[in-house]
Amino acid sequence: MKALILGEPGEIHLDEVAEPVPADGEVLIAVDAAGVCGTDRHIVAGDLGVPPGTVPGHEIAGTILETTHGVEGWHPGDRVAAFGQVTCGVCPACTSGRSNRCRRPQIVGMARQGGFAERIALPTSSLISLPDEVPDGIGAIASDAIATPFHALTTVGRLEVGETVVIIGAGGLGVHAVQLARLCGAARVVAVDPSEAARDAAMVAGADETFDPGSTDEPARDLRRLARGATLALECVGRSETVEMGMSILSPGGRLVVVGVGHTQPKLPPLGMFIGAELSVHGSFGSTPSEISTVLGLISSGRLDVSRSVQREVPLARAAEIFSQPFGPARTVVIPEERAS
Ligand SMILES: [Zn+2]
Ligand SMILES: [Zn+2]
Repeated sequence: MKALILGEPGEIHLDEVAEPVPADGEVLIAVDAAGVCGTDRHIVAGDLGVPPGTVPGHEIAGTILETTHGVEGWHPGDRVAAFGQVTCGVCPACTSGRSNRCRRPQIVGMARQGGFAERIALPTSSLISLPDEVPDGIGAIASDAIATPFHALTTVGRLEVGETVVIIGAGGLGVHAVQLARLCGAARVVAVDPSEAARDAAMVAGADETFDPGSTDEPARDLRRLARGATLALECVGRSETVEMGMSILSPGGRLVVVGVGHTQPKLPPLGMFIGAELSVHGSFGSTPSEISTVLGLISSGRLDVSRSVQREVPLARAAEIFSQPFGPARTVVIPEERAS
């Protein structure tokens, strides 16, 4: 079959690869859409040490083609979204419903072959039923671009009705965080991004106000004024200065949830203030299959409108070109050749 495979760092190309063979308990899936995430860009650049020959792509929607021995409840023709990891199922995280923290995960598109391909084999533990009302492209990005901020705001951030919420970084995750914060009852949502296009997208998504950190010499001070009373901040960038900005704008009792991944080491505020104001900072990683299912339910009922979230569809044969082009706040999805118009 055809797939995009990694070459040396910075290089990805279309090639013929071996047909995936599902093991017992797995299904063979025809990929209907695979989202292109910022992480894929890092993988292609060689930042994450993923070996040449790997097929990236961890945001997948597809249709089951074949089942194997041990598969129950799934049938050929079923539409599915995929959880971006194959988890062990037996570690304390998996058995307590927190499989996003599995101790022995295989990340799809990194440690095993991913979705920038015609077909993929996955175990049933990684499948989420895709409602008929949810298009393939949205089903693909829901597992990461939508469910990741949902997990961060609700399970980790424990967003309460009436809070003022600040979203730092209004890209693919942040723009959905704006929508989800509103949906979960935030009284006010402030989105922060240096990009005008991202700020505009955040306003369309329902932000009450946006802030350009490049517009002032003292961004933390000015953001603190604008977002007065904020008790929840979501950092989607992964840099020291944005993590420190997120901490510094919180009112007493505030929580900072960090989703952005990076290699820097941000500083805590002075301990007197950190302790006295009962501030907290949390890391948040991915989401669980049950959260993906919740998000898909919100989309299929019409409560969460993500119809603007997929900017374009690119057929597999031309998908390698995506990685030399700039990323916008809306997602690109890779689709099969035969569906390309
Ligand atoms: Zn992703
Ligand atoms: Zn596990």
